[in-house]
Amino acid sequence: MKIISRDMVTDILVAGQTAAAFCESGETVIFETRDCYDDNDITEDAPMGTRGEKLENPATGPLFIEGAEPGDVLKVEIQKIELREYGVMRTSTDGGAFCHLYEEPKARRFFFSIHPETGRLGFWFEEKLWLDADPMIGVIGTAPEGDGVPAITPGPHGGNLDCRRIREGSILYLPVNVPGALLSIGDLHALMGDGEMGICGLETAGKVTVRVTALKEEEAARYGMLGEGISDDGISGDEMAGAGLTSGEAASRVFRAVRAALPLLKEGDQVMTIQSAETLDEAALLAANKMRELAAAASGMDLVNSGMAMSLLGDLAVCQIVNPLKTVRCQFPLKVLAEYGFRLP
Ligand code: CA
Ligand code: CA
Repeated sequence: MKIISRDMVTDILVAGQTAAAFCESGETVIFETRDCYDDNDITEDAPMGTRGEKLENPATGPLFIEGAEPGDVLKVEIQKIELREYGVMRTSTDGGAFCHLYEEPKARRFFFSIHPETGRLGFWFEEKLWLDADPMIGVIGTAPEGDGVPAITPGPHGGNLDCRRIREGSILYLPVNVPGALLSIGDLHALMGDGEMGICGLETAGKVTVRVTALKEEEAARYGMLGEGISDDGISGDEMAGAGLTSGEAASRVFRAVRAALPLLKEGDQVMTIQSAETLDEAALLAANKMRELAAAASGMDLVNSGMAMSLLGDLAVCQIVNPLKTVRCQFPLKVLAEYGFRLP
């Protein structure tokens, strides 16, 4: 299996970047990642703010997926997340919900051991509260359209989404904006709550095993996105049937709806849009509207019904409030869309 070394890191996701590795569509690849401080040798006594040559929020990559072309959707199956045997947290005097409470000398690092088998974290709060790891990926993205985006910033290409539902067993769908997609991964967290309120998760390094597949609009009919509800002379969903679309046209239309909703995550029995903006309000509206549009296209529900379905069954959740753009996800039960014959490719 291909392994991309933790020596191959970048602090920007950008078109035209030299690939760290190449793979075929459908291949499984391991990314070895550094922690967000680009530090494997820091100690509790090391002075804060002396980054020197270190990269900010480094991501390993990029991986060039052969055959992936602009307009495709990159399916990234998160098969396994393995963590280093310790994690780091810090206080912040300039970011997060509590920064106004800390003065510079009080900004400190804290180290947690991570048990390699049980995931039990070796840090406790007043010897009362023991914690277990719940590993997730902070940074995962493809090269964006246009200018490069620093690895610390989230966006339509993915990046520093800090969504704790991007975990082992989940599937993330990302846009392919440039040939090869150029996928980078980094910034693992052993544990993080929604919001990442205090400035960081339990920051750590490790290995991520992913299977990457380039999905193509011209093959949309083959992906079974409309399930059993589709046939050559009839399609699922009243609206699509009314439009007189062939099965291929209907599948293409749903494929384009998926593409417009990226980044999109399947985790457990939910599908999620993950959107970032200057404010949480803007990010929430983006996530909600992209999910409604996807649900309408996948089910044939009209504008009013799909909006009511969002209000009744959808959940908005804050991913993070600490990055240059804030991130919100909109979660919706896949089984509702499955009732209409939709499934993710
Ligand atoms: Ca992060
Ligand atoms: Ca982080």
